[in-house]
Amino acid sequence: MTDCLFCKIAKGEIPANIIYQDDNMVAFDDIHPQAPIHKIIIPRKHIATLNDVSNQEDWNLVTRMMQTGTMLAKQLNIADDGYRVLMNCNAGGGQTVFHIHLHLVGGRQMTWPPG
Ligand code: 5GP
Ligand code: ZN
Repeated sequence: MTDCLFCKIAKGEIPANIIYQDDNMVAFDDIHPQAPIHKIIIPRKHIATLNDVSNQEDWNLVTRMMQTGTMLAKQLNIADDGYRVLMNCNAGGGQTVFHIHLHLVGGRQMTWPPG
């Protein structure tokens, strides 16, 4: 999609501190980190919200997002202490960028319930 922030980051048109990328996934530092480690994992394919994941091929991308988040948690040495992965869906869920993304947050004690 042409006017999408995360599509532009995936294409390298907007700078971000990219920590991992492959044919399908891109992961980078969140610009407003909510924890010592706060990474964003996106598919290169533009899918606006979790509600728009409509076929098995897209669900495979969601699986890949989770696999990438888990892999990065191990690489960043937060896996044993613990971390949180989450996706916000639509405005009521706190979504502000409408290209699906997984948040990986860690490096501090998480609390519940979330805000
Ligand atoms: P959401 O609120 O949609 O679940 O998460 C969007 C995330 O993207 C937020 O945590 C926000 O800080 C992050 N973000 C927004 N704009 C940018 C940007 O230009 N660069 C990076 N690296 N992260 C961004
Ligand atoms: Zn996009």
